[in-house]
Amino acid sequence: MRLFLALLLSLFACSKSEIAQNGLGQPSPPTGAVGFRVLGIAQDAGLPHIGCVCTHCETARAEGHRELVASAAVEGKTGWWLLDATPDLPAQIHAQGSMPKGIFLTHAHIGHYTGLMYLGREALGAQAMPVWCSPRMASYLRSNGPWSQLVELGQIEIREFRSDVPVKLEPGLQLTAFQVPHRDEFSDTHGFLIEHFEPPAVNRSASLVFLPDIDQWEKWDYPIEKLLQADTHLLIDGTFWSGAELPHRNLDEIPHPLVSRSIERLGPTARETGAQVRFFHLNHSNPLWNRNGAEYAQLRASGLQLAVTGERVTF
Ligand SMILES: [Zn+2]
Ligand SMILES: [Zn+2]
Ligand SMILES: [Zn+2]
Repeated sequence: MRLFLALLLSLFACSKSEIAQNGLGQPSPPTGAVGFRVLGIAQDAGLPHIGCVCTHCETARAEGHRELVASAAVEGKTGWWLLDATPDLPAQIHAQGSMPKGIFLTHAHIGHYTGLMYLGREALGAQAMPVWCSPRMASYLRSNGPWSQLVELGQIEIREFRSDVPVKLEPGLQLTAFQVPHRDEFSDTHGFLIEHFEPPAVNRSASLVFLPDIDQWEKWDYPIEKLLQADTHLLIDGTFWSGAELPHRNLDEIPHPLVSRSIERLGPTARETGAQVRFFHLNHSNPLWNRNGAEYAQLRASGLQLAVTGERVTF
């Protein structure tokens, strides 16, 4: 009995510590219910952040914790699709318990596509994994190593989406990429709108907006408020809380919408419509990492949320 208890306790301790490491825990395969799962909420370089000894990074190190890079799974009736290929792709795919039916890429910054390396010869050696991206991103992947090798060896199969043209994932589920302003050195940048239509109804029953990286809302020619509708979940850029994280930069030069400003701008519409706004893609410097802080309390009071790694939302 004592041995049994000890075994049970060690099993419990093991699963608990695994959860503590990256928030994903044991593999939890999609259930066949349509929706999405958050697979990471950190900015491209994760947390702890290389070369940084700030309180957030040091606390994470002390706890043996890593916040995974921003990503989500779209879950359908027939399988799931990965949004962005982050440097944490192995853990994120493991947590889903199976390979995705395809990968959609927003842009060519390190947190959003370099996980493709794990599909290559040195790692998985995938076979014809569909990788969806914009024509500019596709041409970047085809013409630069090591990505070009994935294409040449047939490990990935590039499929180009066009801005604003829906891609059918399965009956009743589609993804539409839309272009957004961002620092576009190697590729342009897209956000994704995933829509679910429950047949036989023709009206959509739920949707997800996936938008990890964008310049300030004012620089986008589309008013973000229009995306906030009753049936909508938004996973949006929460890189910085305020300009205090970048003390030597002019606020107008910070190329992201600040969470403190987004709360002011989106809060009223979200409360009015019932749209669910979750911030993710947090820089290591963001005070929202501290759940006991005033900023986190302010976010909660606004009715908007912080995405949680591992959480699953059914439409
Ligand atoms: Zn990013
Ligand atoms: Zn740090
Ligand atoms: Zn970026």
